[in-house]
Amino acid sequence: MAKQSTIRTPIVCVMGHVDHGKTSLLDRIRGSSVVSTEEGAITQHIGATLVPIDAITRMGGALSKVSVNVPGLLFIDTPGHHAFTTLRARGGALADMAIVVVDINEGFRPQTIEALQILRNYKTPFVIAANKIDRIHGWRVQESQPFGKTFAQQNERVQGMLETKVYELVGKLSDLGFNSERFDRVSDFARNICIVPTSALTGEGLPDILMVLIGLAQRYMTENLKVSTDGPGAGTVLEVKEERGLGMTLDVILYDGILKVGDEIVVAGNDQIIETKVRSLLKPRPMKEILIEERFERVKSVTAAAGIKVAAPKLDAVIAGSPLQVIRGGNRDEVIERVRHEVQDIQVNLSDIGVIIRADTIGALEALSKELEGHQIQVMRATVGPVTRHDVIEAGTIKDPLYSAIVAFNTPVLPDAVDTLADVAMSHVSIFEGGVIYQLLDDYIEWREEKKQ
Ligand code: GDP
Ligand code: MG
Repeated sequence: MAKQSTIRTPIVCVMGHVDHGKTSLLDRIRGSSVVSTEEGAITQHIGATLVPIDAITRMGGALSKVSVNVPGLLFIDTPGHHAFTTLRARGGALADMAIVVVDINEGFRPQTIEALQILRNYKTPFVIAANKIDRIHGWRVQESQPFGKTFAQQNERVQGMLETKVYELVGKLSDLGFNSERFDRVSDFARNICIVPTSALTGEGLPDILMVLIGLAQRYMTENLKVSTDGPGAGTVLEVKEERGLGMTLDVILYDGILKVGDEIVVAGNDQIIETKVRSLLKPRPMKEILIEERFERVKSVTAAAGIKVAAPKLDAVIAGSPLQVIRGGNRDEVIERVRHEVQDIQVNLSDIGVIIRADTIGALEALSKELEGHQIQVMRATVGPVTRHDVIEAGTIKDPLYSAIVAFNTPVLPDAVDTLADVAMSHVSIFEGGVIYQLLDDYIEWREEKKQ
């Protein structure tokens, strides 16, 4: 049977500091088109929004003269700034591109820096949305207009303010090792990061950011986007959620192949591989049908790239970030092995002596370990889940006192681990907890410097 292939929709993750406008930006992109029934309208997926290319070119207006061969953009909608690391595929990041949203009036904040470091480590192309330009004092709103048009309508003082703020961002990005420029002055996307001034509230600059994303997609990733349209489905679990009347469900981003009701699938739990059968596939109902009792619409199959809710038995122990793979045509053992491999094969280089690291998801663990590696800090063990008593005891036996430490990212410390830490015999062990990777790193490095003296 000939294998059919196509170019799938690139997956875009929105990152940035809390309150800088990630949700608003997606809301605005979705805008009124959600209710539209015309062909090519924006559609709501589970955990994602699909903006087809004709909707993008319509919004882009005169900007959209570039020839385009990607079918659209699939924006990941999940709240929380760790969606990027949760979404993994084939041992790397699933998102093809990212938008980093920065409040232009506030500048960089801890989660902005963390997002940029993660994107650098994964070599993921991204664009900066310098958001909330409408808050610049004296700004005259030109609803939904491209940046060039609205900028031309501002007075000189306002233009000067915006320029100053953009250059502050350029400076900050330069400190982190990125060359950047306002997008309309960038000629080479490979050498410069584009900064697009936007307002998620008024829609100004949004046509431009969409066009920059399309530009990045066609220049850098067309090869990576080739997928099969009839092969067995492959996806990543974004969230594990209980739904009334459905039991435990998985919100899945499908990035390859086709997924059907009745398919045998393989997913991963913390220490087990789970085989089950798809009972139903659910899409969000279109806005206009919101009065209908059922929140979801049932479909028989779905083709990549898409966001879909999967209901099936035995899903309770599944972990966020787990791969989901369809078994088809007697490849059961191979699929199980592949899933096992993806879960275990965290790209961490372990040493005989090093810190013990913990994180809430596989992807977060990998992101943390990459950052440690970048600072020449060795890792002895890397596992998903809360910090245990065993971790503390193990850290206590490490020969080099500079490595008698546990670094825990976004994950709790179990009570018996806390008790063990309080033990005098463990007084040399330290634990570093937090939700921002580089701050954890700074804390550890500071502790180590003090110990050296
Ligand atoms: P998130 O935490 O990054 O998802 O941020 P939200 O999208 O929830 O936005 C936080 C707050 O900033 C909300 O009150 C938004 O209405 C507001 N906001 C977001 N974008 C803009 C913008 O471009 N202009 C203005 N004036 N307010 C904005
Ligand atoms: Mg939000």
